[in-house]
Amino acid sequence: MTTRRQFLAQSAAALAGAALAPSLLAAKASPLLGPRARPIPTATGEILPEQMGISSLHEHIALRRGGEHREESLAYAIRELQRAKALGLRTIVDVGPPDDVVGIREVARATGINVVCCTGFYLLRGEQLALKAEDFESKMLHDIEHGLQGTEVRPGVIKVAAVRLPIRPAEKELFIAAARVQQRHHLPICAHAVSGCAEQQQILERAGADLRRCYFSHIEATFGWSGRSVEQEIDYLEGVVAKGSTLSFNNFGNWNHTKPEDLARIIRELALRGYADRLVATMDVTWSFEQGKLKLLWEDTNVNGRDRTYAYLLDTAVPWMHANGIAKEDTDKFILDNPRRIFTAPLA
Ligand SMILES: [Zn+2]
Repeated sequence: MTTRRQFLAQSAAALAGAALAPSLLAAKASPLLGPRARPIPTATGEILPEQMGISSLHEHIALRRGGEHREESLAYAIRELQRAKALGLRTIVDVGPPDDVVGIREVARATGINVVCCTGFYLLRGEQLALKAEDFESKMLHDIEHGLQGTEVRPGVIKVAAVRLPIRPAEKELFIAAARVQQRHHLPICAHAVSGCAEQQQILERAGADLRRCYFSHIEATFGWSGRSVEQEIDYLEGVVAKGSTLSFNNFGNWNHTKPEDLARIIRELALRGYADRLVATMDVTWSFEQGKLKLLWEDTNVNGRDRTYAYLLDTAVPWMHANGIAKEDTDKFILDNPRRIFTAPLA
């Protein structure tokens, strides 16, 4: 565990060291292109928003630096992303603050998939719970301005997370930091929000975030609804999209967390109310190793759970939405137009 003081010392040391990398400083939007065409950093270089193609805004390439199973993980990520690429996927956002940027870059190179990395924090623990907004901010700014983990790879998204309601003080500090960093660098913010996305949005809004560049994940998990019925949940979520933010759905085929009829209804109803422009579809692919065996998250609790990887979004989730009354015109938005819009919303 890193103490707060060590954390600050490391950040300062990293800042000092990274000042030696002037080529990275050129990575600013061209004044000729204007803010809408601001390039998006990926693990293998910058792309323009119009190059994103079919995209998923919430995925993971679950590599562990120096981990025992790194090679197996690399091979798995490459194989699974290649399968998805054959179906049309072009870009993913890896919203796990990366542990192995070099490995992620290797996967991106091997597959030709654009992988947007993130800065920020997942669920806070240990000494992180004592950090202040300034601490979170300096770490994020370092990653953005100097690169992740000593590489030239810069993050394109800010990740934040809260466990549940009420949002804990350190989590609030994290969200405030993300909003401040966003004001400076205009990166989209991805929130892990099983419960309380409206409460998270409120903190971001008060801290000056551009809500059109914020998206909230895991909002469909029934255990995060704070007792609301599906009708009430739809109204609650409508409040969030009405303010311009985007909702990210990932429970396709993960029916223990959201009943299929509920997931279809939430998406259909929000689209019907005019918010098809504020929804995205993702898989949240991630895995770990148990007793030496690669295990996909939730593979044991779902029928054909092992199939729920990147390709599932296109070969199963999208057809499932069509079969459940969600128009193709809308699903095209969820995987093509809306992910791009998160990066191109006119700057406030
Ligand atoms: Zn995730």
